[in-house]
Amino acid sequence: MKTIVILGGGIGGIVTANELSNRLGGEHKIILIEKNMEHSFVPSYLWLMNGDRTKKQISVPLKSLLKKSVEVVNDIVSEIVPAEWKVIAGEKEYRYDFLVIALGADLAPEKIQGWDESIHTYYTLEGADKLHETLKNFSGGKVALVIASMPYKCPGAPHEGAMLIEDFLRSKGLQEKVEISLFTPETQPLPVAGPELGNAVKSILDKKGIRFHPLMQLNSVDTRSKQLFFNGKDTYEYDLLIVIPPHQAPEVIRTSDLANANGWVDVNPASLQTKYENIFAIGDIASIPLPGRWFPDKPMMLPKAGVFAHLQADVVAKNIVRKIQGEKADEKFCADGYCMLEAGEDLAGFAYGDFFGEPHPQVHLKQIGRKWHIGKVLFEKWWLSPIGFKKTFYKNLLQAGGKLIGIPVKL
Ligand SMILES: Cc1cc2nc3c(=O)[nH]c(=O)nc-3n(C[C@H](O)[C@H](O)[C@H](O)COP(=O)(O)OP(=O)(O)OC[C@H]3O[C@@H](n4cnc5c(N)ncnc54)[C@H](O)[C@@H]3O)c2cc1C
Repeated sequence: MKTIVILGGGIGGIVTANELSNRLGGEHKIILIEKNMEHSFVPSYLWLMNGDRTKKQISVPLKSLLKKSVEVVNDIVSEIVPAEWKVIAGEKEYRYDFLVIALGADLAPEKIQGWDESIHTYYTLEGADKLHETLKNFSGGKVALVIASMPYKCPGAPHEGAMLIEDFLRSKGLQEKVEISLFTPETQPLPVAGPELGNAVKSILDKKGIRFHPLMQLNSVDTRSKQLFFNGKDTYEYDLLIVIPPHQAPEVIRTSDLANANGWVDVNPASLQTKYENIFAIGDIASIPLPGRWFPDKPMMLPKAGVFAHLQADVVAKNIVRKIQGEKADEKFCADGYCMLEAGEDLAGFAYGDFFGEPHPQVHLKQIGRKWHIGKVLFEKWWLSPIGFKKTFYKNLLQAGGKLIGIPVKL
């Protein structure tokens, strides 16, 4: 009997655990360690921010999403000891034959010079909820949305956020009284997805009157005078400030010998194996360079996105099962990713393509429309449904919809 330990019960951890359970039944032990037993669907934070959802509607007990054969441990992972094939969480040690690290990325707003609680973010459940209250009472002025640094989760989310805020404030009749600006240290929107998608998103932002400011590295904030300082020289005065905070790997990884110079975990891009044969890292914690993409002189990384955590979980689970069964573990991750990009007014674009494409990622944006928004809503319903009939219903619906428009839906 083998023991597979999964660290983290977010998108990657949940998919890994269920996929292993589907393929192994109850024959082997699957342990998932997670510090938070209430799971919220992160992509829906955007809808929490604009009032289309409540916290309750996008949160469910973690166990409802997991197969019965998965043993769930509610604790904080504090140490990984590859030499002894064990991890430590709380007071206990957990020995493994295979370890899957899916601990995601932590937010570190305190790294912003001048940070205080008056600054908003919708990158957390509580933050998105609080921002909605502020937007409800906002009567006009300059809204600054700032990407503090790279890397950050979901390359589309800052742009979606800007468009949903514009939509929300317009629906309050404030369009003439509001100026929305999006600042980023990057050269274009979503550079990780290649130039075509970046140009398409830029033109949508332009049409909505959202000012896009590339190559703006935030240095500090003065919340008393409501000023932003960029690049050591440029300043901008705001009335409402929303940031995408700096991201970092969880401490247990940063302090382990699995961390690279930036704290993330290097993996084989095809197998997600770390430098240890029986340890895999997937999702936001993994660091995978994109062929041919540099900024300014460092390789750009595969975006931190749920779609990749999901696909990687599937690959790792299949390969672990094959190893256990004495077969060749030759399932490979290929970075064909997609994203439904919310644009406001219940419309969305659909970006799809090969992030490993050369000379740069080949990601294309399909015409904005209602069907992509409906697809995103159905995906949310599928994700949050408990294991069982309801989940199968939404899965069938999504797959039938995908077939109709010629897009294979792998769930
Ligand atoms: C606003 C927003 C919108 C997004 N929209 C999209 C989208 O439309 N499409 C898309 O593909 N992606 C989207 N993303 C990105 C997506 O949410 C992440 O990329 C995805 O959740 C990564 O999955 P993961 O399993 O690697 O990490 P997570 O889902 O973050 O899971 C990590 C888990 O590890 C747990 N954990 C961390 N440290 C410890 C510890 N020491 N001990 C125990 N447990 C621990 C955490 O509690 C968490 O549950 C969005 C992100 C944001 C913020």
